Amino acid sequence: MSSPDVGELEEQYVIAAMRSGWIAPLGPDVDAFEAELAARVGVAHAVALSSGTAALHLGLLGLGVQRGDVVLTSTMTFAATANAIVYTGAEPFFIDCELETGNMHPQLLRQAIEQLRSDGERIGAIVPVDLLGKAVDYTRICAIAAEFGIPVLADAAESLGARHQGRAAGSFGAASVISFNGNKIMTTSGGGMLLTDDAELAARTRYLATQARQPVAHYEHVDIGYNYRMSNLLAALGRAQLTRLDDMIARRRAMREVYRELFADVDGVEVFGGEDDHEDNFWLTSIVVDSARTGWTPAELSAALLDDNIESRPLWKPMHLQPVFEASGSLRNGNSQRLFETGLTLPSGSSLSEIEISRVVAGLQPFASVRA
Ligand SMILES: *Cc1c(COP(=O)(O)O)cnc(C)c1O
Repeated sequence: MSSPDVGELEEQYVIAAMRSGWIAPLGPDVDAFEAELAARVGVAHAVALSSGTAALHLGLLGLGVQRGDVVLTSTMTFAATANAIVYTGAEPFFIDCELETGNMHPQLLRQAIEQLRSDGERIGAIVPVDLLGKAVDYTRICAIAAEFGIPVLADAAESLGARHQGRAAGSFGAASVISFNGNKIMTTSGGGMLLTDDAELAARTRYLATQARQPVAHYEHVDIGYNYRMSNLLAALGRAQLTRLDDMIARRRAMREVYRELFADVDGVEVFGGEDDHEDNFWLTSIVVDSARTGWTPAELSAALLDDNIESRPLWKPMHLQPVFEASGSLRNGNSQRLFETGLTLPSGSSLSEIEISRVVAGLQPFASVRA
């Protein structure tokens, strides 16, 4: 669905890093990768970490989230967002989404804040998630957060390269988090980054990510630290990938166009995310299926693709429907559940060959010509 897209260039960068002798975790490629990514997104500071989840965890700690706080986040996300909230001792509270984008619904956010505040809860942070590579409506979400004086940590794990009103995803809120997991738009095999304009927050994140060592020779500690830094070898891989990011986005965009064309005349199938996708990074392309009109369900399509050894998956199962978060609060409008039930994510990777794309199209063809 979204395999790592790595080749000779990545090989060259990693071998050069190995030969440089900078193996033990930090080194010049980490510094350079941070500077290059910060420049690309247009933020002052970037801290390279071992995963997007680690970046979320330290971002929350850096914003002062503590045990007993409530943290508002999107229900339509990958579990890592909510897990990181739990690591801090805070409680996640899940906000439902806009039907068109799956992103946090601004009015529900406002309603949740008012409700929780009147219940006497302390809201530590808001963590909106850029779903599948479409940036959140930060104009509205950040305005609400500012009105109530609550910091925003943007989960931009899926949206590197996307924009909102011309401004890069990863540059919104007090800090943003990017993931370089193997299935993301670009990868370091595993890794993440915290992006911010706040020098103090960046320094605090660096300190906590390297075991909270005081700057003395004898390992003095006044805080609980973490071993969360990215290794120099993986940063080298990331630098190679970053030079190809725009090309990889273009390839994913072309994949979306293939699906748009294929389903253009099919009653009951929409390409997820709305018509206006010119600011997306096209990380994953999903379709939303109205089975009453198509005469087939997303599960039937998925099973048929699997027979051809082609991977597809439902959208994220909303967090408020997950057994592990059963006890957490949520404010729902039914949209996320509906997207979970009607959505299907199709092969979207930038490494798909022409032959593989033809196979996917052939697998979808019977469903693109059936009319209700
Ligand atoms: C992938 C992802 C993460 C976690 O990133 P890792 O690098 O895998 O730890 C967090 N949030 C969202 C929305 C993601 O898609």
